Amino acid sequence: MEAQNGSWVHEITYLRISITDKCNMKCSYCRPINIDYISHKDMLSYEEIRDIVLVMKDFGLKKVRITGGEPLVRPQVWNLVSLLKATNLESISMTTNGTYLKEYAKLLKEAGLDTINISLDTLDENKFKHVTKSDIKPVLEGIYEASALGFNIKLNTVLIRNFNDSEIIPLVEFAKDVRARIRFIELMPVGKLDFFNKSKIFYNDEVFKLLEKTYGKLTALPPDGSKSAKRFLIESINTEVGFISPISSPFCDGCSKLRLTPEGTIMYCLRTNSGINIKKIIREEGLEAFRKLMPDIIRQKNISNEYIINNDYRFLDCNRAMTSIGG
Ligand code: SAM
Repeated sequence: MEAQNGSWVHEITYLRISITDKCNMKCSYCRPINIDYISHKDMLSYEEIRDIVLVMKDFGLKKVRITGGEPLVRPQVWNLVSLLKATNLESISMTTNGTYLKEYAKLLKEAGLDTINISLDTLDENKFKHVTKSDIKPVLEGIYEASALGFNIKLNTVLIRNFNDSEIIPLVEFAKDVRARIRFIELMPVGKLDFFNKSKIFYNDEVFKLLEKTYGKLTALPPDGSKSAKRFLIESINTEVGFISPISSPFCDGCSKLRLTPEGTIMYCLRTNSGINIKKIIREEGLEAFRKLMPDIIRQKNISNEYIINNDYRFLDCNRAMTSIGG
């Protein structure tokens, strides 16, 4: 069966690997206040993750992103980076809140990490504390360290109306100063949190208009990696900006991205709870059993894309918190 709109994907090119559900921050839009953490024995080991990646590479996998929770709270994550580097993928990146980068950026660089996405929603220390319940200082120090080491950095900014939407230009200027790219992400209602309310969403077309008004016409750039961001160059300050617009401009059509959770579930999309636990299969039946399942996993991914498109890109049954899936 082929998708009616011709967007049937035949391979999986991109995998987001969440390696822990623990995080040192408590962002209001990401995780519930009380959370039952996964025990260590229930988590995939770094070697198991590498083996999964190797199998998926035979089905088209080119890029992986390590995320969490906060990936840098899991011990010696640079060992995972080294294991993944040895698989010869096109790129290995990580999404982090940056707190521990000052300490670990050099080890990550030496292990072969290509790109770091660092979450930064505000430059105001009080607002930062309000949204994350943590301090901004180590995060900024981590960004400076990663920049000094020559990392390819992207800043991830989730805009919240009447909270940080007044900081769009200062954040772009900060990105320029640390030689980073910046991505504006629309707030998604993932995880049934009290925080969500449609009125808090700040849409990316508003950001785009403000940037053009401030800097002049933006120059469109071709899509990269996961294709979720629409990329532009602000020529006057030579800084790249990206718009990730899951609410106003969903990018599900032809999406070939999967997510792997810390306890070994492959999830087809953030918008639904559907997935398959492959840890049990790998531990009880071996890697070859997983390999045999891959064609069906690709088929399920296509069915999931169709289901979401046919349901107007709604977020359906999303009761798992973002922090436990891996944003
Ligand atoms: N702890 C790491 C960090 O803070 O970057 C990695 C995990 S975090 C879940 C990954 C990304 O998801 C962050 O950039 C975060 O801002 C984003 N995120 C979390 N909840 C979100 C939501 N409800 N809507 C949009 N983005 C969200």
